[in-house]
Amino acid sequence: MDTARRARPIRTGLFQIDPPRLLGSACQNCGIRSFPARDFCPACLSDDVEANVPLSPSGTLYSFTTVRQAPPGRKTPYNLGYIDLDDGVRLLAQIDITHDELEIGMPLQVNLRPVGMQEDEDLIGYVFVRGEARERSVR
Ligand SMILES: [Zn+2]
Repeated sequence: MDTARRARPIRTGLFQIDPPRLLGSACQNCGIRSFPARDFCPACLSDDVEANVPLSPSGTLYSFTTVRQAPPGRKTPYNLGYIDLDDGVRLLAQIDITHDELEIGMPLQVNLRPVGMQEDEDLIGYVFVRGEARERSVR
């Protein structure tokens, strides 16, 4: 990434830039991780949660759809999917892979990229891209 220009996430606390990791919360009671970060655990309702926990950058595609209608200013079509990160978090995100190449269970990894400019700073957003092929886990 170009470090000469200043860059910041589209929303504070959503992810860190170097190394690229989404930031979630981790329950200190049951261990469940959440994204985006929450101030309580959605599984056991404990409020003993740690914030700003870097999540696994890789996961697999659980399900996906193609979005063909969007608010003005948003280019269509694009693909959205549920991704199961390796540390157990399931999240919804844009996937930068053509529809025909998407396959449930395929490896994906998080990727940060400029999505716009604001006050001379690059606004950085996240998408998921094809990840390294690896052995399928047996469940
Ligand atoms: Zn919990």
